[in-house]
Amino acid sequence: MTLLKNKKTAIIGAGPAGLTLARLLQQTGADVSVYERDKNSQTRIQGGTLDLHKGSGQEALKKAGLLEKYYLMALPMGIIMTDEKGSPLFTKQTTSENRYDNPEINRNILRTMLLESLSCDTVVWDRKCSGLEVSDQQWIIHFENGTQEIADLIIVANGGMSSIRSYVTDTQVEETGTMIIQGDIPNPKFSVPKFYQYCDKHRLMAAHQGNSLVVNPNNNGTLSYGVIFERPQIWQNPRVSDAQDVNFIRAVLLERFFDWDDQFKELFNSTLSFHCLPTRKLPLDPPWKNNRPLPITLIGDAAHLMPPFAGQGVNTGLLDALILSEKLMHDTYDSLDTAFKAYEAEMFIYAQEAQQASSKNEIEMRQLDFSFKQFIQ
Ligand SMILES: Cc1cc2nc3c(=O)[nH]c(=O)nc-3n(C[C@H](O)[C@H](O)[C@H](O)COP(=O)(O)OP(=O)(O)OC[C@H]3O[C@@H](n4cnc5c(N)ncnc54)[C@H](O)[C@@H]3O)c2cc1C
Repeated sequence: MTLLKNKKTAIIGAGPAGLTLARLLQQTGADVSVYERDKNSQTRIQGGTLDLHKGSGQEALKKAGLLEKYYLMALPMGIIMTDEKGSPLFTKQTTSENRYDNPEINRNILRTMLLESLSCDTVVWDRKCSGLEVSDQQWIIHFENGTQEIADLIIVANGGMSSIRSYVTDTQVEETGTMIIQGDIPNPKFSVPKFYQYCDKHRLMAAHQGNSLVVNPNNNGTLSYGVIFERPQIWQNPRVSDAQDVNFIRAVLLERFFDWDDQFKELFNSTLSFHCLPTRKLPLDPPWKNNRPLPITLIGDAAHLMPPFAGQGVNTGLLDALILSEKLMHDTYDSLDTAFKAYEAEMFIYAQEAQQASSKNEIEMRQLDFSFKQFIQ
């Protein structure tokens, strides 16, 4: 750990990318702290399950000594593809051969697994970073609650809407024109029993006339789903009150799904709150800034936010953690800056590929005749 010897590393953000990096660095004895805005480790993380791929997400967990634990905590799931009337078009079953390909894990369970691998007090909760400053050859990290910390190097891992990435790049996040409405239904066995049984532990995907639906009935006791469609003109600037109005969102969904089977409409009627997300991307615009005052770089969504249509976001973030940790541990580099530059050069290539795959899928999903069958090899 030559480059990190006697150095204090700060990671901003305890998402999957930041925590995996903390684990990989700590394994080699580095002094690492992670600063996270969530109040504590129990804070519920919004969103569906994640699946880690071989060659990227799983590779990082393997190096972190956590792959077997991931297999234990995650759920291998088949897929049912249906038409809008609920008639099955295609089914993919889980088999003993494919069960470790990409099992699904709940976001809080993944966080807990990573937290348990870190020494205690690595993550400092309730620390929303509000800005950075340089003083005496050290970073000063400011937090919204008025406290501050120092560090020799900073890794920004605080997600796609990071406001502190400007030390590294001035590129701005762009909207990509798609809307995702997420819904959660707790206790689906009782709230939507027919639909839950119909899924039979499979993820369900259906598309019709520009509206797509992806459902996971087994997200740690909750059924979570996403409705995906091209963002209509009227939704370019929805009033905040509309985006938070459950009845308004439900009415929009019921209208869009008017010719779908009632069991899909039952999902919307059984949902108590919705989360509306316009899809966004941070275009990768290499190289990043050369005039950084002290060592700082970006990983995960903070580096390469992309819409989730190729299932690559978290996997790319974990690959960043793996590659950056290797650069920092390797004695090939004579400074933190050259190690960061080497990581960034490598990351730009695979992250651009992932963004292109996501954009290609996004364009296909907007076609009126789109069917998920196009995505299944
Ligand atoms: C609807 C949807 C579905 C998705 N599905 C998939 C999928 O199937 N497969 C996939 O690979 N990816 C998927 N993704 C993308 C995936 O969620 C992200 O790529 C992944 O979570 C990025 O991890 P991260 O650690 O970089 O950032 P995040 O998970 O965003 O974590 C960032 C952390 O930083 C914290 N933070 C934010 N600001 C601050 C601050 N100022 N100070 C301190 N802490 C802060 C946050 O609270 C959070 O804990 C999906 C995304 C969405 C929106």
